[in-house]
Amino acid sequence: GPPRPPAEPLAPRDVFIAVKTTKKFHRARLDLLLETWISRHEEMTFIFTDGEDEALARRTGHVVNTNCSAAHSRQALSCKMAVEYDRFIESGRKWFCHVDDDNYVNVRALLRLLGSYPHTQDVYLGKPSLDRPIQATERVSENKVRPVHFWFATGGAGFCISRGLALKMSPWASGGHFMSTAERIRLPDDCTIGYIVEALLGVPLVRCGLFHSHLENLQQVPASELHEQVTLSYGMFENKRNSVHIKGPFSVEADPSRNQANRKPLDQAADVCWGQRLC
Ligand code: UDP
Ligand code: MN
Repeated sequence: GPPRPPAEPLAPRDVFIAVKTTKKFHRARLDLLLETWISRHEEMTFIFTDGEDEALARRTGHVVNTNCSAAHSRQALSCKMAVEYDRFIESGRKWFCHVDDDNYVNVRALLRLLGSYPHTQDVYLGKPSLDRPIQATERVSENKVRPVHFWFATGGAGFCISRGLALKMSPWASGGHFMSTAERIRLPDDCTIGYIVEALLGVPLVRCGLFHSHLENLQQVPASELHEQVTLSYGMFENKRNSVHIKGPFSVEADPSRNQANRKPLDQAADVCWGQRLC
């Protein structure tokens, strides 16, 4: 539908964007983000990783070493989400957004979107990765379980939570609680967020088609609408390379980085679509 009138114009410092990464992706993925969208929005962006990197610390002051394990386990990922949540609460900002290190964030579109909702209300914005609620089993005591179902926003597309809602999540999300909540349903970090928000607090996910992960066909995002999208991604989908389709003005000679598979969609998007001239 038509965009709602802005409830409150937002400044960059009102938003906390947590980027989840891991040491092995600092060069392979994060450098690209630092060269593109993060470089223009350093005051909003906080990088959550699992290993010391002096080169990274020299480039930006906003690096948080979570001391979480560098494994791709459910526990390690929910450990990072727990630290992201705690840092957001400490920051006093109005909005928490989480993205992966293979996301491109169109900050102008993000501010426009968030500005149309009141941050003091309960707002959970993102894109569901499934077409139905996830069915899970909730451990309610030592030897008692019960079925539970809820929607969740896929972490790989990015999602946002208002401060009002984040404060209500505190009993299940702050300190060490996020990890024990994740263990209660034995699901990944993004599902655990959905569990706390939808199942425990009864706040419904607001679906937003402007968030995109590489688990959807990114070629289907029309080029003419790229500038309106809040997040993009790149990676693999159904065993094929997946990225947005942009006809850039740069030849392969002028922009040789497009030959590097994981640079191609993002720096073209940054240069062609979200470069200073168009945004
Ligand atoms: N990741 C992480 N620890 C790991 C592996 C991945 O924190 O051991 C992060 C990674 O940096 C990214 C997110 O988890 O932000 C998703 O990883 P990836 O894109 O490799 O996986 P997929 O999108 O296929 O789930
Ligand atoms: Mn990914």
